[in-house]
Amino acid sequence: MVGWKMHEMSLVEALMDTLLEMQRRQGWSKVSRVTLKVGKLRQVVPEVMVFCFEAASKGTPVEGASLEIEEVPLASRCTRCGEEWSDSESLGLCPFCGSADVELIQGMELLLESVEVELDGAEIGRN
Ligand SMILES: [Zn+2]
Repeated sequence: MVGWKMHEMSLVEALMDTLLEMQRRQGWSKVSRVTLKVGKLRQVVPEVMVFCFEAASKGTPVEGASLEIEEVPLASRCTRCGEEWSDSESLGLCPFCGSADVELIQGMELLLESVEVELDGAEIGRN
């Protein structure tokens, strides 16, 4: 099983650190929902990520929270002609002018989009 663990688990560990830090500082009694934005280039398998999250949150105030993952598609921009496109197949080469002078403008995200928590039993949203 070498290589199975994992990528997703290390992302989840970083996420848990962030959540528990926020929880401690802000006195949340419970986290009910977490939404992440993950760029396609991160190659995250959502099901694996959710599985890891459930395992890592056991016994913490985050336990039982649902994890939602929004995938952010790739987008590139040609720095020579200025065109933008979201086709991953032409990653690295501009489909309009053929230039290799291309920058990735979207697809590497790993953002904590929102966290819904319970505070003294009341459910509040936080963005
Ligand atoms: Zn171009």
